[in-house]
Amino acid sequence: ESTSKKPEIKGKAIPGISNIIAVASGKGGVGKSTVTANLAVTLSKMGFKVGILDADIYGPSIPMMFDVEASRPLSVNVDGKSKMKPVENYGVKILSIGFFTQPNQAVIWRGPMASKALNQMIFDAAWGELDFLLVDLPPGTGDIHLSIMQSLPVTGSVIVSTPQNVALADAKKGVAMFRQESINVPVLGIIENMAYFTPEELPENKYYIFGREGAKNLAKDIEAPFLGEIPLVQSLRESGDIGRPAAMQESTPLEEAFEEITRGMV
Ligand code: ADP
Repeated sequence: ESTSKKPEIKGKAIPGISNIIAVASGKGGVGKSTVTANLAVTLSKMGFKVGILDADIYGPSIPMMFDVEASRPLSVNVDGKSKMKPVENYGVKILSIGFFTQPNQAVIWRGPMASKALNQMIFDAAWGELDFLLVDLPPGTGDIHLSIMQSLPVTGSVIVSTPQNVALADAKKGVAMFRQESINVPVLGIIENMAYFTPEELPENKYYIFGREGAKNLAKDIEAPFLGEIPLVQSLRESGDIGRPAAMQESTPLEEAFEEITRGMV
């Protein structure tokens, strides 16, 4: 049944890559990169070949989340052409706009500069065979989104939102962007992040800090699947900061939550 959700691939712009999934959010700081990182390691554990293109020009955090901040892509020769070899860790191939800057250096990417760097990471890279390329988009809707949607055969999008009204309003704009005629990328579903908090001392309690089921209701409203929810968990934040995505840890509620979401996508 889940395979019926998988839309047709629209183009063949990158040979060897079967599915390109854009991960979007209306607002920054809602956990889009955290979710991208954990979906990627979950897909990899399921046996898929996975890559991440970190296109978040405002705060490329994928290198930190995979502990490859100091790495830089090497150049390799493919059929007489020099190509960028993605950095790899935990079975996930990574190219990030962050690899084009020095650590701690503030870089203000102008639109054309960012588009050029992204184009290189897409078309001048040796991704090899991939079942899934996840694209971590900048928050909101802008020129970068349009240029990626126009240059890549994006299979589908997932939207990460907290249950908060301001985040939901912006997430809805994201949905409208994917569904507009000139872009026409199917929305595979909505993921609710920071859905609730459960203190260790009160394991039966759920506190709905950012509101309750907002993203679930948004999914209903826009007639898109609800892929699942991730609670607010300190260890999820910590694992991101130390560069070991939480979903890699076996037999934990977080691993299960990400597995459930991933099964709804593939
Ligand atoms: P975005 O990509 O949307 O800007 P990030 O993934 O960078 O957001 O997350 C913002 C911050 O919130 C990070 O420090 C991250 O570790 C933390 N975070 C994200 N999701 C959760 C969660 N469910 N529980 C706890 N911390 C989270």
